[in-house]
Amino acid sequence: MSYVITDECISCGVCADECPVEAISEGDDKYEIDPELCTECGSCADVCPVEAPQPGE
Ligand code: SF4
Ligand code: SF4
Repeated sequence: MSYVITDECISCGVCADECPVEAISEGDDKYEIDPELCTECGSCADVCPVEAPQPGE
């Protein structure tokens, strides 16, 4: 499993700088997480101003 970024994302880019495995990149409408790289550390959720990254189900 991996974290996923919801549509709440405002593309500020803060999370991408915090991800220890560089799993986050800018997508067309919002930032996206590569599920193959994400370790579910939660750092992106901690720094996001709008709580867009959420644990996957
Ligand atoms: Fe990166 Fe951790 Fe967020 Fe996964 S949970 S995208 S590893 S910062
Ligand atoms: Fe989107 Fe939150 Fe990441 Fe900013 S920190 S790019 S709002 S997910």
